[in-house]
Amino acid sequence: MIAIYPGSFDPITRGHLDVIERGCRLFEQVIVVVFQNPNKMPLFPVTQRIDQIRRSTQHLANLKVDSFDGLAVTYARLHQAKVLLRGLRVVSDFEMELQMAHTNKTLDHDLETVFLATSTEHSFLSSSVVKEIARFGGPVDHLVPQAVALDIYKCYAKTPIESEPIAEEPR
Ligand code: ADP
Repeated sequence: MIAIYPGSFDPITRGHLDVIERGCRLFEQVIVVVFQNPNKMPLFPVTQRIDQIRRSTQHLANLKVDSFDGLAVTYARLHQAKVLLRGLRVVSDFEMELQMAHTNKTLDHDLETVFLATSTEHSFLSSSVVKEIARFGGPVDHLVPQAVALDIYKCYAKTPIESEPIAEEPR
């Protein structure tokens, strides 16, 4: 069974990667599909996002990366995918994701949305959080794949702040 994992991935984070790796264990093939979100001003062009995802997922033999300008259901139909994979982090994701799943169901009754609950350590993580930290010169190496962190630093042309060890209170 083929699953597509649609999203903006601007840029891919360790949270996305976690969903991708787990999806690859569940399905014969997973296709990450990068979409241009008309409501968001992107940091990276689609071609660079695809390249970042490819470089971060070389260890996954049953993964493909693609982009599409259209509806996810259309892409799924064109590629015989029967599953739309999405990640759920917090309750606030749920309302939007459920609405999207129901809407997609009205467009294609045969396509099932499968949600993977995020690993707890990634539950706070989003592409926007990463960009916000990097914009103010903070380190993001622990939040995104290494190659992506370098792209982000280049983009903001700032060096990461070395995290200071927390001094112990004198007793
Ligand atoms: P979109 O613009 O479609 O929301 P995103 O790139 O932000 O695209 O997210 C794509 C999918 O990945 C969504 O289902 C989102 O909930 C999920 N996702 C994002 N961050 C994480 C994370 N840290 N853990 C698990 N799933 C995540």
